[in-house]
Amino acid sequence: MKRYSAFAIAREAARYHSGWERAWRSPEPKKSYDVVIVGAGGHGLATAYYLGKNHGITNVAIIEKGWLGGGNTGRNTTIIRSNYLQDESAAIYEKARSLYENLSQELNYNVMFSPRGVMMLAQTEHEIRGYKRTEHANRLQGIETRFIGPKEVKKLVPIIELNGPRYPVLGALWQPRGGTARHDAVAWGYARACSDMGMDIIQQTEVTGIKQARGKVTGVETTRGVIACKKLGMVVAGHSGVLADMAGFRLPIESVSLQALVSEPIKPCMDVVVMANTVHGYMSQSDKGEMVIGGGADGFNNYSQRGSFHHLEETVRALIETFPIVSRLKMLRHWGGIVDMTGDRSPIISKTPLGNTFINCGWGTGGFKSIPGSGWAMAEMMATGEPGDLAAGFGLDRFREGRFIDESVAAGVAH
Ligand SMILES: Cc1cc2nc3c(=O)[nH]c(=O)nc-3n(C[C@H](O)[C@H](O)[C@H](O)COP(=O)(O)OP(=O)(O)OC[C@H]3O[C@@H](n4cnc5c(N)ncnc54)[C@H](O)[C@@H]3O)c2cc1C
Repeated sequence: MKRYSAFAIAREAARYHSGWERAWRSPEPKKSYDVVIVGAGGHGLATAYYLGKNHGITNVAIIEKGWLGGGNTGRNTTIIRSNYLQDESAAIYEKARSLYENLSQELNYNVMFSPRGVMMLAQTEHEIRGYKRTEHANRLQGIETRFIGPKEVKKLVPIIELNGPRYPVLGALWQPRGGTARHDAVAWGYARACSDMGMDIIQQTEVTGIKQARGKVTGVETTRGVIACKKLGMVVAGHSGVLADMAGFRLPIESVSLQALVSEPIKPCMDVVVMANTVHGYMSQSDKGEMVIGGGADGFNNYSQRGSFHHLEETVRALIETFPIVSRLKMLRHWGGIVDMTGDRSPIISKTPLGNTFINCGWGTGGFKSIPGSGWAMAEMMATGEPGDLAAGFGLDRFREGRFIDESVAAGVAH
């Protein structure tokens, strides 16, 4: 595959962009593969990429029922941070964040990683204590975060109202190397690199059944016929329960819709990401100038990819308290994604009751930021059959043993 470069852009500009080759192939599925991965979201594609790059396994198919990146990966608000409380979480999210730093160069694809800084506002005394605790934990984990006071918050975010009607801004947990990336580009970059290694990305093909013999998976039934495999990876986020059901086991997962919305584009006014977890809303400004706004998850299980109106109202009302300028903005569109929530709000990267089958799910409302680290850890487990250091804590057995990695209180919202 030809490399993208400044020279290539200039050459194509001169010949009306007629010479670009397709970023990835659309092959017919083969009868069998060493590894089949279900789900071409960021986590599935990253798993395939690191299987090839780190372990030399390239006879891989990634099967996607829609289009690649069309699930949560292309629907999220792209916040990247690693300021988690628990050691296991901090390790995998920081691995991911550090891989993001050079991902564009590594994939030869601009994922537009922008380490502009992420701020989590403290708007109650309880939050101050919680974030100071996280700051101390992060120091021990080697993650650069710091608790800042209201003056510094205002300096970093001039449009903020420190003395809102319900909750004043009392400070914030600040991660200067957190930020955002272009979500589609992350999926596209990994897809291009996988295709370049000879892997098959098979879109518009739904897995409808799991074929098994003697406690092992032998292949998957799809809308384009049976595809055999030696190892299976299930990486389907909000549909994990459905896939597990096909395979004959149950997961401690609930699927709910989480929504986001985006405003009309305005002039640059905020160059950091702000999360206001008490009032529950978060916001950043895209390169196009739109204010990207995230809200809460539905309070009931569902498989809808739409936003619900009461959340829209609640989120905007909450944000207006802290950012009065939002009241003057027109909203362009809103949408939802089906997120897979575990009880402790931590992911599952695990072996399953079926010998050669592995699952990666449960990233819930915050798995975009972890894509590179999760792919790295999942690939290691699929290649070696055992979880490595990064995945060790995230096995399904933790729910049986009561060994939770509790991020539900620590993170408040986990985007
Ligand atoms: C509104 C919103 C805001 C968010 N904000 C953030 C944020 O700011 N920061 C952050 O870190 N995270 C955020 N997240 C969470 C993040 O988007 C997800 O955790 C992450 O994208 C999950 O990636 P994935 O690859 O596991 O899943 P997905 O991208 O959903 O990919 C799974 C794929 O599996 C496919 N699939 C399902 N069933 C089948 C089948 N039977 N056969 C074949 N294919 C199948 C689906 O079509 C889908 O493409 C947000 C999510 C939403 C919805």
